Amino acid sequence: MSVIYDRVALIGLGLIASSMFWAMKRGGLAGEVTGYARSEATRATARRIGLCDRVCESAAEAVEGADLVVLAVPVGVMGAVAADIAAALKPGATVTDVGSVKRDVIKSVGPHLPPEVHFVPGHPLAGTEHSGPESGFAELFDNRWCLLVPPPGSDPVAIARLKALWEGLGSNVEEMDPDHHDLVLAVTSHAPHLIAYTMVGVADDLRRVTDTEVIKYSAAGFRDFTRIAASDPTMWRDVFLTNRDATLEILGRFTEELFALQRAIRTGDGAHLHEYFTRTRAIRRGIIEAGQDTDAPDFGRGQKSS
Ligand code: NAP
Repeated sequence: MSVIYDRVALIGLGLIASSMFWAMKRGGLAGEVTGYARSEATRATARRIGLCDRVCESAAEAVEGADLVVLAVPVGVMGAVAADIAAALKPGATVTDVGSVKRDVIKSVGPHLPPEVHFVPGHPLAGTEHSGPESGFAELFDNRWCLLVPPPGSDPVAIARLKALWEGLGSNVEEMDPDHHDLVLAVTSHAPHLIAYTMVGVADDLRRVTDTEVIKYSAAGFRDFTRIAASDPTMWRDVFLTNRDATLEILGRFTEELFALQRAIRTGDGAHLHEYFTRTRAIRRGIIEAGQDTDAPDFGRGQKSS
């Protein structure tokens, strides 16, 4: 593969940025990659493990002369970081982000960027429950989706170049409208995370079941919940605060269905339960039949995933 951007700046050096760095190196997709993270500790770790060609002491220094700037920080600080780097951005540069919520990021980042800079928000649908500069790996994005959410009127050349980068990182790329993105992610990721957090919290509260029993007898279901519930608290706090409307809508529906199932269990309505579980089984079959997914529990992705 060939170089797509001569200079890339990664702002935030956690799971996603470090995975992007290793995947860019794997594919020879970038010339020099600079990086910046808020804490001295993370910057020191990045230098020690060779994460980034140059680790800078400020975000503004990192973006100087960059053709692509990637905001890979929690969603809640995207706007502040954009304000910080705005004056240092090179005219004609592309700014993108990897945030899990899109409408809020567009609202908080967009107004800070100068008109001669292209803003093409994005979201790689790939992750693990690990965070920090040492958690990344080059294969994270292989065969996963990356959604680009360019505002109307965005430069098609800038979009095509970013798309080529994500394809080089191993992803399949699609464009989506921000509101639709936030609703889709509320269903597929945000609400399920909240449910996992709740279930693990409930198990923790149940003093009649000891910690040892929970660990010893946790079959795949609960183990998966604990893995998801171990995800970064800052990132997920920001996801729920910024994708409030879509998450609340989905949780409202979830609660209604949960009450219906609760009633069916209490009243012994086996027909309702059987009919419901038959429908959900068909949904899984539909997902498998819809595309590249397989019948494997992880839909055949064969790697760490969230
Ligand atoms: P992470 O591993 O927790 O890393 C976050 C990075 O952001 C750290 O390097 C942190 O620096 C830095 N940071 C935080 N506040 C900052 C600030 N004000 N200025 C500069 N740097 C700052 O996070 P991640 O998992 O890579 O997530 C990054 C973004 O990707 C989030 O928006 C998240 O929604 C999105 N995302 C995550 C996943 C996932 O599964 N993890 C998947 C897709 C998208 P310090 O270490 O110095 O605090």
